[in-house]
Amino acid sequence: MTITSYNPADPTDLVVAVEEPGAEAVRDAVARARAAQSGWLAAGAGARSAALGRIAEAVEAHAEELAALIVREVGKPLAEARGEVARTAAIWRYYAQAPFAPSGAVHETAAGPGLLLTRRRPYGVAGLIAPWNFPLAIPTWKAAPALAVGNTVVLKPAPEATACALRLAELAGLPESVFTVLPGGAEEGAALVDAADVVSFTGSTGVGRAVVRAATERGVPVQAELGGLNAALVLPDADIEQAAAHIAAAVAGYAGQKCTATSRVIAVGAAHEPLREALVKALEAVDDAVCGPVVNAAARDRLTGAVSSATAAGATVLTGGGVPERAGWYVEPTLLTDVPAEHPLAREEFFGPIAVLHAVADLDEAIALANDTPHSLSTSVHSRSLDVALAAADRLDAGMIRINAPSSGVDFHLPFGGAKGASHGEREQGQAALDFYTVSRTVSVLPGGGA
Ligand code: NAD
Repeated sequence: MTITSYNPADPTDLVVAVEEPGAEAVRDAVARARAAQSGWLAAGAGARSAALGRIAEAVEAHAEELAALIVREVGKPLAEARGEVARTAAIWRYYAQAPFAPSGAVHETAAGPGLLLTRRRPYGVAGLIAPWNFPLAIPTWKAAPALAVGNTVVLKPAPEATACALRLAELAGLPESVFTVLPGGAEEGAALVDAADVVSFTGSTGVGRAVVRAATERGVPVQAELGGLNAALVLPDADIEQAAAHIAAAVAGYAGQKCTATSRVIAVGAAHEPLREALVKALEAVDDAVCGPVVNAAARDRLTGAVSSATAAGATVLTGGGVPERAGWYVEPTLLTDVPAEHPLAREEFFGPIAVLHAVADLDEAIALANDTPHSLSTSVHSRSLDVALAAADRLDAGMIRINAPSSGVDFHLPFGGAKGASHGEREQGQAALDFYTVSRTVSVLPGGGA
């Protein structure tokens, strides 16, 4: 079998084709990574810090090439691709400091002399499984903290983002078997979960749950960041034009293919009519520089099929709903209303530039509707009253709450993850990631060892 990845804006453009390596190759890669791990750890904090810093520099030195590759391989609009490259360099640089951070604490003994200390140590080989939508940033926000604390890494990228991941590993230039990118699909992913010492997964909910079960069965630590069904709550006192602009960006930016994209817009009371009008206008003004194509033909067909079945069930299309007449896998930015509550478009992540508008009477109803999903990743709240927005934030289930901002957008130095079924295990990014890739040991030192 061959893994292929095509340009979503020009399906005749084959970006990369590689032979699928198979499960045995994954086990080999993990064995080699395990053999390399003690040397990587023993090289010391200074060497690891310098190596990660050099990766940041290499990414920056190749920024335009990498941005162009992201555009070509996953169809991300150029401005966002450039942003992702800059963020990738920033993440490597941020974690380049981590090897020098304290790795434990010293404590008094409960009784008598002696010394107690804790020390965080790496697990060994981190098995990382990534989705295609942030083809450099997600592999980086997993690999950089894992490497910083002394693990070696085997990364299995999504097939659709194979070329980006391979180029990242090349540019990283780390010692043999310290950072291996192994292309593949479900078979290689499952084999990696079966062999690694710590597992980090980002992707869709169904696959993520299977990964969590398999890793838990083996007794290895696992984190999984999954899909979202993200809501935007708009209060009557909001700056409606600004809210509409933010929501349009969160619905249609990168064709809605972010786990934090908005797919439900909840208008409270008098906000409904002006918001509907402003949002339709804002979505109609979205162009290719913001939206771009969806990742493949199957995604496009799934999205258009969902719109047809929703309208057949009584929904109204307020804007969009079609497929532009052009090459590439494009879907128009779409806003629907009156979607039946049980229709999949109102309940599941579709990963496209499509949102459903709901009108509710008050904030209580808005919060109940926003919380009525297991996929609680990111929710935005739009209001001029900080008191109201902060009170709402306390009652929302989401892992990320964004006030007067698009639901999409992530700060790499803070913990990132969802609530309820959107996330499993420790947070990613920031300090949380360093904790996830290490385990604490307690060392007791009692007097009597002699001089
Ligand atoms: P996906 O679940 O199809 O694939 C994710 C990864 O899992 C890929 O590398 C894939 O090859 C691998 N995989 C597939 N089957 C496997 C198996 N049985 N065992 C192990 N690995 C397996 O997701 P995708 O289409 O690549 O990405 C889109 C999804 O990712 C969306 O649902 C999106 O919301 C989610 N996502 C979540 C976050 C987050 O941080 N919460 C961030 C980005 C994307």
